[in-house]
Amino acid sequence: MEDIKLIVDGRRIDGRKPDELRNVKIEAGVLKRADGSCYIEMGNNKIVAAVYGPRSLHPKHLQNPNRVVVRYRYNMAPFSVDERKRPGPDRRSVEISKVSKEAFEPVIIKELFPRSSIDIFVEVLQADAGTRVAGINAASVALADAGIPMKGLVSAVAVGKVDGEIVLDLVKEEDNYGQADIPVATFIRAGKIEGITLLQMDGRVSKDELKKALELAKKGCMEIYRMQKEALINRCRGDEIVE
Ligand code: ADP
Repeated sequence: MEDIKLIVDGRRIDGRKPDELRNVKIEAGVLKRADGSCYIEMGNNKIVAAVYGPRSLHPKHLQNPNRVVVRYRYNMAPFSVDERKRPGPDRRSVEISKVSKEAFEPVIIKELFPRSSIDIFVEVLQADAGTRVAGINAASVALADAGIPMKGLVSAVAVGKVDGEIVLDLVKEEDNYGQADIPVATFIRAGKIEGITLLQMDGRVSKDELKKALELAKKGCMEIYRMQKEALINRCRGDEIVE
């Protein structure tokens, strides 16, 4: 697979330039029975996020008397990938759930709801690389849709190295045959990036390449942030959103 060319004349296999996102579609409030919800498409990824809570947490020994307990479950449907995936949690989904939950740590205002839980469910219906970051984007909108008090939004995208070039928002082939995949989540408040809340790396890049990749990721996150806000504004149908 070494000789697969993924970038030809500055264009990637789906025609994008290195710094371009895939098509993104975000819709808030898609599920009637969840407190907050969101459907996202990032390229061929199709993902639904549902948020329940804050609600009383049982059994009681799981409660924290000082703050809300946030739980996050990332799950891939068996039909979301080429070969049927065995249903249920596995090492990968447990890891993704953990790091995704941590991406929201500095953003959710937890002290307001002691002894309660906020439960975030992310269901991947169709996967094409970057599902953890797309799931985080959907979860962020679903949390806001549920009215969970937050300091801002979490916006995420993967960057990576493909054919020696730093590129934004990898598709499956780029993820499989590229040299690095770097998912990044940022905490954005009032249109300003306050910090990085998730950073992982699969593969190898130099220090300078990592710097460049992070700059590109931030640019991508800002674009996604604008689309998340737009989805929330559409959900409110003209109601004013105060940041
Ligand atoms: P992410 O989806 O966040 O990029 P990975 O890098 O682990 O996470 O996975 C990359 C892609 O590989 C997924 O988006 C999916 O398309 C594919 N993939 C992951 N797990 C499986 C699996 N069990 N079977 C088939 N394809 C998978």
